[in-house]
Amino acid sequence: MTRTPEETEVHIRESPPEPLSPGPPPESGPGVRVEPRGDPRRAHLALYAEETALQGARDHAAHDTTAEQGGVLAGEARVHQGRIHVRLVEALPAKHTVGEAARVIFTEDTWREASREMETRHPTLRIVGWYHSHPRYGIFLSERDQFLHRHFFPEAWHLALVVDPLRQEEGFFHTHRGRIERLPGYHLITRR
Ligand SMILES: [Zn+2]
Repeated sequence: MTRTPEETEVHIRESPPEPLSPGPPPESGPGVRVEPRGDPRRAHLALYAEETALQGARDHAAHDTTAEQGGVLAGEARVHQGRIHVRLVEALPAKHTVGEAARVIFTEDTWREASREMETRHPTLRIVGWYHSHPRYGIFLSERDQFLHRHFFPEAWHLALVVDPLRQEEGFFHTHRGRIERLPGYHLITRR
């Protein structure tokens, strides 16, 4: 059952986000490669995306290109020397797909399921954003997407990932000083 954004807002705001704890960003090391994609130095947020998480969102988007797919992004958000960095660890598909992804993701069922999955599989992670697909219509946030993002993911470390499985493009967005910006780059983490 689809709830209106207003109803869902009450549900989500029950647990306000905790302040970010300090910690160093991920670095390359034995078995771990951290490489730039695009120009992460120009971004107002340092994003470190695990390749498996990104691939999970891509696979979900490609699974059915006749409709939008989507879900929530799980990860960590920390601060290092005044700069926020987010590690994207997993894309959790929203299972209650009834049509437009941007609507599905914000239903109470999706949130309940995502919270349950987070507690059992990733007790140390938090929800750091959401993702959805735009099959063949490219990378941007529609007015509705922007409304939902501002409403449910107002923190600077909250990400919106848009994947176009047919054009094979993707992009991350976040809010910086009240404006939604596309990240000019991020760091990709691959593990051997
Ligand atoms: Zn959209």
